[in-house]
Amino acid sequence: MAFPITRLRRLRRTAELRNMVCETRLTPDAFVYPMFVCPGEGFRKEVKSMPGVFNLSVDEAVREAREVHMLGVPSVILFGLPDKKDEIATGAWAEDGIVQQATRAIKREVPGLVVMGDVCLCEYMSHGHCGIVKAASPRSLGAAATHAMNKVRTVAVRSQKEKKQTIEKLAAVVADRGPADYEIVNDASLELLAKTSVSLANAGIDIIAPSDMMDGRVAAIRRGLDDAGFINTPILSYAAKFASGFYGPFREAADSAPQFGDRRSYQMDGANLREAMREIEADIEEGADMIMVKPAMPYLDVIAAARERFDLPLAAYQVSGEYAMIEAAARNGWIERDRVMMESLLSIRRAGASMILTYYAKDAAKLLG
Ligand SMILES: [Zn+2]
Repeated sequence: MAFPITRLRRLRRTAELRNMVCETRLTPDAFVYPMFVCPGEGFRKEVKSMPGVFNLSVDEAVREAREVHMLGVPSVILFGLPDKKDEIATGAWAEDGIVQQATRAIKREVPGLVVMGDVCLCEYMSHGHCGIVKAASPRSLGAAATHAMNKVRTVAVRSQKEKKQTIEKLAAVVADRGPADYEIVNDASLELLAKTSVSLANAGIDIIAPSDMMDGRVAAIRRGLDDAGFINTPILSYAAKFASGFYGPFREAADSAPQFGDRRSYQMDGANLREAMREIEADIEEGADMIMVKPAMPYLDVIAAARERFDLPLAAYQVSGEYAMIEAAARNGWIERDRVMMESLLSIRRAGASMILTYYAKDAAKLLG
């Protein structure tokens, strides 16, 4: 049947009719709220590039968790800002690590809330990478300096000021020896990731969510958890995590920017949908209970393809940059914030995500409530 028999506008005539034929519904129980916990007491610091999102001390995180729970959002995911970083990510797996502390407090005060633990090393590593870093070639600091000298040609200096500037320039080049000189060691990093997962499970984390993108980490974590007796702790793997410019604001929030190079040797190339399916398949084979695609809106096709192909619960992470863009445009009066917020979440849901990790969890729940 075609027009004039068919008139699609008939079912759009009133709000009631539109509601009856609505295909995709958002509910607060689809949301997971990310939180950034840091040392201190009574501490709340807004993340500049993410208005409305805060670094929270444990007591403040508990308050926030209570509010999230009251709004009908079933879960939070915790990221940690340790007071000290090192080369073995001690803060990630220490018994008194910041996420471990926050988990104990939240599980005690808000027992009904499902607490997820993001498992990665970047926030706890002095170099900010998601795994152990090793110099890939025997190129020494001296060789790097020579390389730097070749790059900086002005060596003749006339004044103290110029001399200082030249030294600073050289130091900068030496410090940034570039990703080619480094390797993020895969297999050795797995041990730390498993150790971190067990430590989080010990603290009471309900769901382990590895985001590092090392090969084989789901299997390593599963083994670690099982050996420690946590056979019932599920794994939500960030299975298809793309190297994305949309993570920018998060790196401020979690203070986790890499000090050199980038993450392209472990996070995925945004061009690759088929590879994303292989990543997901590998994680499922290794024992993932749930899978995730990250970021969400620039990768809706990946979410849809994953939904089509796999039967596991599927999550998508609406990342910091997606949030920051909406906030910035809304603050300029260029878009209607609430409307765009809900539309962005709806699009992720429609693409097939059953769970959405989003900084909008609270605000969207309020609108839906
Ligand atoms: Zn990381």
